[in-house]
Amino acid sequence: MLAFNVAQLLKEGIGATRHYSLSGSLYDIDEQNAGPVPIEGFLDVVRIPKGLLAQGKAMLTLNAMCRRCLAVYERDVELDIEEEYVATVDVVTGYRIDLTEGEDDEPELLINDHHVVDTREVLRQYAVAALVDAGLCRIDCRGICPICGVDLNSESCNCHTASVDPRLASLAGLLEEMD
Ligand SMILES: [Zn+2]
Ligand SMILES: [Zn+2]
Repeated sequence: MLAFNVAQLLKEGIGATRHYSLSGSLYDIDEQNAGPVPIEGFLDVVRIPKGLLAQGKAMLTLNAMCRRCLAVYERDVELDIEEEYVATVDVVTGYRIDLTEGEDDEPELLINDHHVVDTREVLRQYAVAALVDAGLCRIDCRGICPICGVDLNSESCNCHTASVDPRLASLAGLLEEMD
């Protein structure tokens, strides 16, 4: 499950905790990951004054694009989750809680009127963030020849990439380090 009814937890005192197993599928992470993308993990959820604090980890395998050769490869990703969920309805009285806007404009995650925390959108956003630094398909990926464009992992070419102007060579080395 990726959505949980937290009504009981909300009725308990500050500091009460629950352990939830995360298991399910994500969709529409990006073009390479339309889903279903299986995800497994856990959340430890603590009752805090304004709602709940959820902390946990989730594992999934994403199709990532190598930033050196642009090949799509499978990448195991671990997501470190930490989010606050704000209660919108008082679980005891049923009254709507008047949420005043905080100082920061960060949109808050809300526990819905049925006291359900749905983690799917949050997990999807964490997965999107994990893909920003897509990494390399393998640690020694040779990339693409800048002249003829062949994938140097599977082919070689006769381009004279060695004849780089020595003044540019140090720059190339610097770029390589930044990689
Ligand atoms: Zn690569
Ligand atoms: Zn070439």
